[in-house]
Amino acid sequence: MLQIKCPKFFLVIVAVLGVSSSLVANAETVSEENLHMPKWLIVHAGMVLPVPGKPPRRNATIVVRDGRIVEIRDGQIDATQIVTDASSADVETLQLLDKFVLPGLMDMHVHLSFEFGVDGQQNHGASEEYAREHRSSMDDVYNFVTAQDNARKTLMAGYTTVRNVGSDGWHIFALRDAINDGNIVGPRILTSGYTIHAGADSGPGACTGVESCRRAVRAQIDMGADLIKVYGTCSGSKPCGYETAPAVFLEDELRAIIETAATRELKVAVHAHGTAAINLVASLGVASIEHGSFNDAESRRIMKKNSVYLVPTLSVHDNIKKDIVGAKEPMLGIMQNFRDKHGPGMLAAHKAGVKIASGSDAGVSQHGNNAHELEYYVEYGLTAEEAIVAATVNAADLIGMGDELGTLEPGKYADLIAVDENPLENISALMDVAVVVKGGQIVKAPK
Ligand SMILES: [Zn+2]
Repeated sequence: MLQIKCPKFFLVIVAVLGVSSSLVANAETVSEENLHMPKWLIVHAGMVLPVPGKPPRRNATIVVRDGRIVEIRDGQIDATQIVTDASSADVETLQLLDKFVLPGLMDMHVHLSFEFGVDGQQNHGASEEYAREHRSSMDDVYNFVTAQDNARKTLMAGYTTVRNVGSDGWHIFALRDAINDGNIVGPRILTSGYTIHAGADSGPGACTGVESCRRAVRAQIDMGADLIKVYGTCSGSKPCGYETAPAVFLEDELRAIIETAATRELKVAVHAHGTAAINLVASLGVASIEHGSFNDAESRRIMKKNSVYLVPTLSVHDNIKKDIVGAKEPMLGIMQNFRDKHGPGMLAAHKAGVKIASGSDAGVSQHGNNAHELEYYVEYGLTAEEAIVAATVNAADLIGMGDELGTLEPGKYADLIAVDENPLENISALMDVAVVVKGGQIVKAPK
């Protein structure tokens, strides 16, 4: 049986009308067996931000039935006044009178299967010969376990939905499905499978030429991809990732990728640092540009016109700050330029009317630290409210789930979190999430 490790964990759930005692676990751990979705969940909130971008409400009762929001009422309404029928046997009340409640956060750029600096591709104890022969399947299993652990960290950090934009191996689909089936604790995952990249080899995700690129996209579709991720430029950590570098794909290849994704109504997210690639893919009408480090006025004009989201991933600067020390040319110059332009470029895009959806690049940055990305947005000039919108309303819109996620409104999933301080006044409050509810299931309860 899997255990959620939450030291000092204590469930303060008021049982109403004979609530199941199985939910009340011991003070040290909560097992997944104990995770239970009550038919009714009544949340008494001291403060609640139902719709980021609009004012919060004081003293409210959030009514949840079968995992979805029914309504939000003024004041602390007792469950007995809300639930009066036979279903009242399965009601729980969450007392969050000293907390600030808001929608579950969403990270549009994570890599659950690895963490930078942590080598998951070790020998795993096998003989060299065996490992050589079975390398990929061993890695896939190992990566599943890594991703499972990172998924738990992500959810406990208050992130109830993520886009996993690129993983080696097919394990990420199994993880997504296992979470959806309720067998593993983690956020909702939308996954792209392998990243489509320009390359002459026949490895997964590699393609060259129109036919080959169509095939690479269809391979992800066959596995059940929720979106398609493309490398439009080199990685920013490579010498070829500089500002004026050309796109690594030809235009007909990019069109083939986008059009093939569209046959299954899948959105396309494109990794792009250099200006030329940003402008090319934005003009072709992709859903989001990841990083967008060297966007210029023309990029911003095209992105706004074509409603292309920017997913900034400023958290990678945690690494840049370390890597730049002792770096040599050409990487030193590339990193300095990246450091100087990436954050201001995000703010310029925002001011130009380009919508920002939060993405931390967790995997390159630290898992479970996703809200640090929002601190970066505020550091570079967004308001705390705008940063929260980027991680809720905008993210939900980017993945086409604005009707289901992103706000606490009737009919939507009851994905909500609670923090001790008002994050509209101090965005860093989101770095320490006290309560997490996903789809009406309490996955992290107040201490
Ligand atoms: Zn990434």
